[in-house]
Amino acid sequence: MARALIIGCGAVATVAIKKCCTCSEVFSEICIASRHRENCEKLAQELRPNTKTVITTAAVDADKAENVAKLIKEYKPDLVMNIALPYQDLAIMDACLECGVNYMDTANYEPENIDDPEWRKVYDKRCKEQGFSAYFDYSWQWAYKEKFEKAGLTALLGSGFDPGVSQAYCAYALKHQFDTIEEIDILDCNGGDHGYKFATNFNPEINLREVSAPGSYWDTDENGKGHWVEIPAMSIKREYNFDEVGQKDMYLLHHEEIESLAQNIPGVKRIRFFMTFGQSYLDHMRCLEDVGMLSTQPIKFQGQDIVPIQFLKALLPDPASLGPRTKGKTNIGCIFKGKKDGKDKTYYLYNVCDHQECYKELGSQAIAYTTGVPAMCGAMMVLTGKWNKPGVHTVEEFDPDPFMDALTKYGLPWKENFNPVLVD
Ligand code: NDP
Repeated sequence: MARALIIGCGAVATVAIKKCCTCSEVFSEICIASRHRENCEKLAQELRPNTKTVITTAAVDADKAENVAKLIKEYKPDLVMNIALPYQDLAIMDACLECGVNYMDTANYEPENIDDPEWRKVYDKRCKEQGFSAYFDYSWQWAYKEKFEKAGLTALLGSGFDPGVSQAYCAYALKHQFDTIEEIDILDCNGGDHGYKFATNFNPEINLREVSAPGSYWDTDENGKGHWVEIPAMSIKREYNFDEVGQKDMYLLHHEEIESLAQNIPGVKRIRFFMTFGQSYLDHMRCLEDVGMLSTQPIKFQGQDIVPIQFLKALLPDPASLGPRTKGKTNIGCIFKGKKDGKDKTYYLYNVCDHQECYKELGSQAIAYTTGVPAMCGAMMVLTGKWNKPGVHTVEEFDPDPFMDALTKYGLPWKENFNPVLVD
């Protein structure tokens, strides 16, 4: 019996909220809040007749910690589930600290304005020291570790699929299949087709920033020292034959869980992340980038300030509307190379999710589904005390077993392959 404040009511949050309502014994009360309360209320009205969960709604602009703190003081939740955007992570964490409440999210912090000189200073230093230039990294949220520890509060970071389930798979492989893991390849394949020439499966601004950034991976030199290797965007391409999806092109991207896994998987030598993209998506993205449509820098247009990527977002299909159109499956998982009982071993742990099945069940496509279900399961781990560890933690730092059981129960069972084709 617990009370959760859920900030965000977009594609991912909708799935998480619907799943919370199927588990009223844990989520006995929820408050859905975002800047547009009418969206939260619309969803609440749809759900109320069929759930024992008591649903309230609120308006909040979570860009400011004081707004969130005010709402927390009124609602008194046991956990704040941040399923808004990564821009709000720090403000919501500040509010949780102020009010003494546990915190969770699905993506690590990045600033909305990457031209902010204060942020830029820290960013430039980090690029030089760490060797990767993505706008997002864990340092901002890891800086809260001591504060959360001292307050006796748990902050669970990145409880979506990747990050999130990808790290639970790593923890599971280490616990049950390996003595040491040397190499991890995270493969994210979306074999779905929505019929549009160009659309993004989740928030276009976040998605396009991620995909247009240089790629990077974790590697280890001959002296055993781990380091980042950065490459131009989309410059490493591989083909892979995905179970239940088929042959796809995939490209090496920077991805946030590489950073935490490099710290938390002892002895790991290489970690890479690949995502599949069709040629049409890449051609459109390159063109949009070339003409400046992915820029976050405001421009003056007919007397108004316009941020090009936000304007583009307004033109593109709403990711939440892709559900009825998207056909095909996703296949996301990790291939491991390591040692068990002194012998070399390989192992592939993955989930296959069908867009149309997700739509039939919850009215959402598989990308939102595969993120929203782990968000709800991660929240459940914190609320039931299974993942209660004061401090700021990523998913692989917790016992994967109860989380994996919950994933299976709530719609994301996993498959294993003990002789996978490896990625060269
Ligand atoms: P959407 O754009 O669909 O939804 C975002 C929601 O956040 C909206 O309901 C919006 O409502 C709310 N929001 C935005 N700004 C604010 C604010 N200032 N204050 C309060 N609420 C706000 O995004 P998605 O659902 O696609 O993505 C949600 C999160 O999931 C993102 O952080 C994304 O990066 C992450 N994600 C993680 C994945 C993973 O595997 N780990 C995969 C996919 C996504 P309103 O406008 O009313 O405020």
